[in-house]
Amino acid sequence: MGTVFDAAKKEETTSALSIEKPKVVFVLGGPGSGKGTQCANIVEHFGYTHLSAGDLLRAEIKSGSENGTMIQNMISEGKIVPSEVTIKLLEKAIVEIDNDKFLIDGFPRNEENRAAFELVTGIVPEFVLFFDCSEEEMERRLLSRNQGRVDDNIDTIRKRFKVFVESSLAVIEYYNSKGKVKKIDAAKPVGEVFEAVKAIFAPVSDKVAA
Ligand code: UDP
Ligand code: MG
Repeated sequence: MGTVFDAAKKEETTSALSIEKPKVVFVLGGPGSGKGTQCANIVEHFGYTHLSAGDLLRAEIKSGSENGTMIQNMISEGKIVPSEVTIKLLEKAIVEIDNDKFLIDGFPRNEENRAAFELVTGIVPEFVLFFDCSEEEMERRLLSRNQGRVDDNIDTIRKRFKVFVESSLAVIEYYNSKGKVKKIDAAKPVGEVFEAVKAIFAPVSDKVAA
């Protein structure tokens, strides 16, 4: 049985992504830290394409894919969907969309996600935007946002916090050790957070902020 790593080695020369690699910024932070909201602002001002791993997985459920039930069960429990599934969806979006810079929001969620993505795609992120926020504030936001998500209930929220601390923080620590993490105080109001975000993107973007 081949692992995702074996498959990646074989694919290395044929992957569409091996020809021209886009710039990728990972946008990470706990559930409710404001990743999606700020990504929309970044897209508007800096010309990135926003890929939310969670949104791609939810679209996959809706499409009636054979993995749909499995994904739905994982999301309802706040668990991390197997890397192969999420990476395929991300890779497909990157190849299909005609842009050379992407924000990947909510992925990688654990060290295995991270290592598999780097190996399969050959892409290393330019940097990692980390939205730092207290659980108390994130919980307040998730319970009041009402987007009809199966996982925005108190039981699943607590599970998502646990997974974030136990699995996802390690990814931030890994990139921090490489000097790639840009940390933002995400507990502030949306406008103030975006001011801090702008300061990070403005110098590295070739599109002038409006
Ligand atoms: N998810 C996953 N892998 C990913 C992204 C999301 O397994 O790369 C699942 C996971 O169950 C997570 C849920 O999708 O709890 C919702 O993720 P999303 O990023 O949409 O929301 P967040 O928890 O960051 O607010
Ligand atoms: Mg989100």
